[in-house]
Amino acid sequence: MYAASKGIAIAKALVYEKHEIEVAKSSIEDVKGEHTRFEQAISAAYAEIEKIQTQTEKKMGKESADIFGAHLMVLNDPELISQVKSAIKNEKVNAEYALKNTVDTFVAMFEAMEDEYMKERAADIKDVSSRVLGHLQGIKNQDLTSLDEEVIVVAHDLAPSDTASMNKEKVMGFATNIGGSTSHTAIMARNLEIPAVVGAKDITEKVTGGDTLILDAINGQVIINPSEEQKENYLSKKQQFEQQKEKLKIFKNKQSSTKDGKVIELAANIGSPNDMGPVIANGAEGIGLYRTEFLYMDRSTSPTEDEQFESYKVVLKQMGKKPVVIRTLDIGGDKEIPYLNMPKEMNPFLGYRALRICLDKKEMFKTQLRALLRASQYGNLKVMYPMVSSVEEIRQANAVLEEVKQELTEKGTSFKDFEVGIMIEIPSAAINSDALAKEVDFFSIGTNDLIQYTVAVDRMNEKISHLYSPFNPAVLKLIDMTITNGHKNGIWVGMCGEAAGNLKMIPFLLGANLDEFSMSPSAILPARELISKLSTEETQEIKDKVLEMSSAKDIENFLNEVVSK
Ligand code: PEP
Ligand code: MG
Repeated sequence: MYAASKGIAIAKALVYEKHEIEVAKSSIEDVKGEHTRFEQAISAAYAEIEKIQTQTEKKMGKESADIFGAHLMVLNDPELISQVKSAIKNEKVNAEYALKNTVDTFVAMFEAMEDEYMKERAADIKDVSSRVLGHLQGIKNQDLTSLDEEVIVVAHDLAPSDTASMNKEKVMGFATNIGGSTSHTAIMARNLEIPAVVGAKDITEKVTGGDTLILDAINGQVIINPSEEQKENYLSKKQQFEQQKEKLKIFKNKQSSTKDGKVIELAANIGSPNDMGPVIANGAEGIGLYRTEFLYMDRSTSPTEDEQFESYKVVLKQMGKKPVVIRTLDIGGDKEIPYLNMPKEMNPFLGYRALRICLDKKEMFKTQLRALLRASQYGNLKVMYPMVSSVEEIRQANAVLEEVKQELTEKGTSFKDFEVGIMIEIPSAAINSDALAKEVDFFSIGTNDLIQYTVAVDRMNEKISHLYSPFNPAVLKLIDMTITNGHKNGIWVGMCGEAAGNLKMIPFLLGANLDEFSMSPSAILPARELISKLSTEETQEIKDKVLEMSSAKDIENFLNEVVSK
């Protein structure tokens, strides 16, 4: 069990399960009664979707709410309704069966169409009809957008769309069976600043909906139906935690600098414009990583150029002059997109992913680059390619970028020039960083992947997580080498992997002269406080000492002593 996003929550449990709805055929006599049942299910689904639409618009803007408008149109479609009713009447079958059959025909028809927009309608129809079926069968898939009381969500895992649409006022925390510290559920939880415990194995079986839970997302435990004494104890711990957080607020508007005045940039990682609240609240000096892949996930077709443009523009405008590093699509590994028909692979983390897909699916890549170029006018954009392993890949990606720039210029569309950088997250890139630095404007070290590839430890596998450590001496040497090579070639070097926000790593990284640290927004203020207490000279000595050590455990213990002083 792992505390993925720090905090303490005490509330009732909501066990979140997504039911697969099975439909059986049965004969009916009462046609009128069956029609009424169908109409009632339609009305109930309609009211539900309208509520979600209003809430989404309030929280995330009109663009995000539009999808629900399309869902309402399906429910209003006279063709669909009359076909279901005719089937009930003519075949004397139950409403569920009539609906399922009719929907299957509609879906097959839309899916066969060439037009992307029409294909998307098929997904809408499926989505909406399963909601109606749920009402017909009395099965309710909980809805995390509209909750009446405060809850702790307990689930096997949560899709990004689940976490993104969670009502933050009502979801006090969550616990999932699977996931590790750098799984995407954990990262989303930190971005949203919701206390979360992941990798809790069979927590969904142990907890029943309505149980009272204490979610201790500091030590990584869940207490089910606690005693009064435990509750009181945790209420005071929660208060303490919150007071500490409050105290750190004095650092919110301060510049990040060491004791001797060396200025550092502390930036935030985000997954969507929806994550911007905590970024502003914690006084981030930039966005060091905007993971654009979440925009592509949990849907049935790629986001359109305009949709992407809007999402980038919102963030750029909100950050004003502050830098915003937007990473091009990094899909694959643990992040899947069904509509890209990605083949099942033996080693997905070593496979067809990220820039490798973009260089293969050039049109998709060009659409994203066009959206980025158009958005560049609204702020201080920097673009970054993920999973680079060689100079050829950078050159190929840059050639596509040039092509898109030329096309836009020909059309008279304006854009601003921006810095182009790469993630250093593959050992070959770190080792060859002297050569790679000559091709780009900046590096950002992605330790989440760099660790897994250097130590050969799957970042998702709980069984071997004791081997997955940023303090591994080989990882630290690669980090040091990358920063040195970057600076030698006159480019800046940042880090956007989770290690950048790890307080124990910060003295080493400062000593190695890292220029920019990008982390979950909630890690910024503690990091700024720590940096203000350290001097450049002291951290350089720490770095030299660490690089002479040979064991990850010893290094971690030594750095722990440094930060506990
Ligand atoms: C990384 O690998 O460190 C990183 C920041 O990218 P992601 O976690 O999205 O793979
Ligand atoms: Mg990565």
